[in-house]
Amino acid sequence: SMTSIAFIGLGNMGGPMAANLAKAGHEVTATDLSIGAIDRAVEAGCKRGDSVADAVKDADVVVTMLPAGAHVRSVYTEGYGVLANAKEGALLIDSSTIDVDSARAVISTATDKGFAMVDAPVSGGVAAATGGTLTFMVGGDDEAFARARPVLEAMGKNIFHAGAAGNGQVAKICNNMLLGISMIGTCEAFNLAEKLGLDAQTFFDISSTASGQCWSMTSYCPAPGPVPNAPSNRDYQPGFAAGMMLKDMRLAQEAAHKAKASTPLGAQSEALYALMEAAGKDNLDFSGIMKLVRGDL
Ligand code: NAD
Repeated sequence: SMTSIAFIGLGNMGGPMAANLAKAGHEVTATDLSIGAIDRAVEAGCKRGDSVADAVKDADVVVTMLPAGAHVRSVYTEGYGVLANAKEGALLIDSSTIDVDSARAVISTATDKGFAMVDAPVSGGVAAATGGTLTFMVGGDDEAFARARPVLEAMGKNIFHAGAAGNGQVAKICNNMLLGISMIGTCEAFNLAEKLGLDAQTFFDISSTASGQCWSMTSYCPAPGPVPNAPSNRDYQPGFAAGMMLKDMRLAQEAAHKAKASTPLGAQSEALYALMEAAGKDNLDFSGIMKLVRGDL
């Protein structure tokens, strides 16, 4: 059924996500700080929102897709923002990738004011946002999750309820921390094999059917050759940029410090992706960390 939706944050991800909500038959009022981004959303079937307050005032559902925690806190809690201007009882969905503490603080403030709210960060890049095949990891109570599900289904394929408020962000950063670590381990193994005279394809054939097997190897091999559509075969053009991996690794370490969880490999991996950034290579795919491991950066 048709729902009145406000969409705030029409960037690389939010633009196509808003377009898919409109395509699904919802009435979407779209806004951003960038007029050009609003113009593109209007071309894609959305209504023009001149400000956050204007976009949210009649909406049953508000979706935000913003860069980081500071933007989310501002857009929700300041006077111009969502909580001060949305309809009573509206459902609020933040799909930005942000720190766990900001997610929990904003949801707590929103629910205190009588709104239903979930954090619903995504996995899958611009291609998945455009194709409507994102994975959503959702944190919030059962009732809010049940209301959010049909909206998220217009933008994604897999919708997971990860538990209470903030748990969507927890699932996202723990998964990406593991991915970031396993990618570096895979690079080290392929580099060592090559240095010892074992070629990438032969090592792949053995290890991908043995206990070293992991997604970083079999779906995204950082050594050119064995996985034809992996970024390693196009000089590490993304894909998933190292700079975005670094953002998620930093969020994981920030959360780990606060939780007093020991994550030595996460910390080391963050430092290595930061070296890619320092070398000006954070626009390469994150599997381009192979260049650093090989000494080519
Ligand atoms: P982006 O920078 O392209 O888009 C963010 C948009 O928010 C911009 O258009 C900006 O103008 C707008 N914005 C900022 N402050 C605003 C405000 N106060 N009011 C209205 N609009 C405002 O970023 P993106 O790539 O679309 O990513 C969005 C989020 O999704 C980030 O948290 C990112 O980590 C996460 N994410 C991105 C990808 C990806 O592949 N790009 C994948 C998964 C998750």
